[in-house]
Amino acid sequence: MLTSYQLELPALDFGDDGVPRSSAFDDVYFDKDAGLDETRYVFLEHNQLADRFSSLRPNERFTIAETGFGTGLNFLCAWQLFLDKAPSDSWLHFVSVEKFPLNKEKLTQSLAMWPSLAELAKPLIESYPTLCHGLHTLFLPQHRTTLTLWFGEASDGFKALDGSVDAWFLDGFAPSKNPEMWSEELFQNIQRLSDHTTTFATFTAAGIVRRGLQAHGFDVQKVKGFGHKREMMVGTFTSHQESDQHPTPIQTSRLPWFRAKQPKAVTKVLVVGSGIAGATTAQALANKGVEVEVWEQGNQIAGGASGNAQGMLYPKLGASDTPINRFYLSTYLFANRFYQSLPLDQKLWQQCGLLQFPKDDNEQAKFAKTLASQLYPDSIVKAHPKGLELPLSGWIKPQAVCEHLLRHENIQVSLNTSLTRLEQQGDNWLAFNQNESLSYSHIVLCTANEQSALKEWQDWPTKPIRGQVTQIATRHLTAADQQQISEVKSVLCAEGYLSPELEGHINFGATYDLGNHSLAVSEQSHIDNLEKLQGLLTIDKEAISLADCKGRVALRCTVADYAPIVGPLSNKDTLIDRYAPLRQNAKWQTLDDCELLPGLYVNLGHGSRGLVSAPLSGFYLSSLILDELAPFEQSVIEALHPNRFTIRQLKRGEV
Ligand code: SAM
Repeated sequence: MLTSYQLELPALDFGDDGVPRSSAFDDVYFDKDAGLDETRYVFLEHNQLADRFSSLRPNERFTIAETGFGTGLNFLCAWQLFLDKAPSDSWLHFVSVEKFPLNKEKLTQSLAMWPSLAELAKPLIESYPTLCHGLHTLFLPQHRTTLTLWFGEASDGFKALDGSVDAWFLDGFAPSKNPEMWSEELFQNIQRLSDHTTTFATFTAAGIVRRGLQAHGFDVQKVKGFGHKREMMVGTFTSHQESDQHPTPIQTSRLPWFRAKQPKAVTKVLVVGSGIAGATTAQALANKGVEVEVWEQGNQIAGGASGNAQGMLYPKLGASDTPINRFYLSTYLFANRFYQSLPLDQKLWQQCGLLQFPKDDNEQAKFAKTLASQLYPDSIVKAHPKGLELPLSGWIKPQAVCEHLLRHENIQVSLNTSLTRLEQQGDNWLAFNQNESLSYSHIVLCTANEQSALKEWQDWPTKPIRGQVTQIATRHLTAADQQQISEVKSVLCAEGYLSPELEGHINFGATYDLGNHSLAVSEQSHIDNLEKLQGLLTIDKEAISLADCKGRVALRCTVADYAPIVGPLSNKDTLIDRYAPLRQNAKWQTLDDCELLPGLYVNLGHGSRGLVSAPLSGFYLSSLILDELAPFEQSVIEALHPNRFTIRQLKRGEV
């Protein structure tokens, strides 16, 4: 467990020549005159990227992984070559790890040296993540590229990933100055992520790197180094067999019942549900060139819990580093960039910050603990005189956002269309609605509480919780209250929440009614919401007529363990049979992977945090379906996995 997500910034100076230099490692990031040529010679040519890019098949994905992102120069050069050589329907996935990331200003300053890369440096700089430990996914669909950055120790980053790399860029400062990075664990994970077509290139010829690669399945050759440098190394992965001199088991951090991928050809995908989970899943797939159909049982897009006029970006950030905390943190940072990239003219979101006031003494103590832990950088969570401030938050118009996301050439939406039944038909799925049955290679259910089509295979501990929001036109408030409201510039949260005034209205709420599933707007709920509003502002409640309160009710889908259910499905009975020994021994181990129902996935249970957690969850599902490296760490994948409940039940002897 980490004690802080804060990162150490690099000790970096720009010399008179403008070249970034690390004083800690006493080395430059690149050479002033020949930086571009060196990158091209060492990493691109020696991984034969020009040829490999041009021979990619339609829709094929090419994955490069790098040690030491630094200024992103290698990434930009590889990306530029990819766009130049690769067929227009192929995709690049570039993964890089960086323990001491540059901030945006230093990145901008470093990349200003390369005018020929300016066109690609711009989107990189614009989408560069907040400096915070962990995985960050930068999706650049207009350039057919995903950049995954791990901010943290190199070996930890690769350990967190599962999948297959086509080419390694083993960069870094001279191993003599930075031997710690070239650890046994790093090589083990390079091996785990390689297969028989994987190549590597590295600027160094150091023995520590050569021995590490040879001991982990690579055939290593020394070749002429760039410019005045005598030697560098290149090679191909040959085997997963451990060498006799260096017997180390291959680390697979994944437990067999938490298998997430079982690749199969993608023809057409059905996404059921058009709320924020369905819309983000459909859009992520459509952006990657997949044909998607969306079925929505209601007569409008996002008519359920995502249909409110104004929703807030309110993450659940705790005081300690757990997989669920990492999930909420990474989805929050992604959601922030995701909404930031929406067209400005439609005013779909506003990053106005969020102030969180404690509900009671208990919560006040929790806030104090979060701040004292210094887990988060100030850019994410900081102290405010009345509580906590989350500067990256804001509000969005959820329904308008869902409509926007689904307006896509690869997406076809059918309203008033309910999924009634699913049937496995050979390699495909037959989905039935009221009128017809259609065949799909993949189906993703983003249906919140409505899970009956799956009951043959699975059930989960989800619970509907009623939520009513209240809307009042500000003209119905007293002059003093109107003045007060006009001064609310951030989202305010305590027992309830209030967003800044939007189009002459305030939106606030929400009730949390367990056991009441009525979809009718109730006066009592307005009264409850006004009570909560009092916890945020001293509004004159008596001056408000309930007749002026408009409301909207939806049922959130909540999960007993506070994480959504996102991932592939298995048949519960098959799981129970296969892993029955867990009943006797919860520590029982096996290498026998679980069977997945091929092509069937769920994305539900986001509770009241879907605006935060859905965009990256949808992206994650698209990466599973398309067999790409996932944007979540293995521990997060397991915390979201639909099989987790059955495995827990087995361990407790409940099934
Ligand atoms: N590839 C980079 C580029 O294109 O600009 C240049 C890389 S620079 C020569 C080496 C990088 O490795 C530095 O950014 C440094 O912070 C990073 N680094 C050093 N030790 C590391 C470690 N243990 N884990 C991850 N990154 C590390």
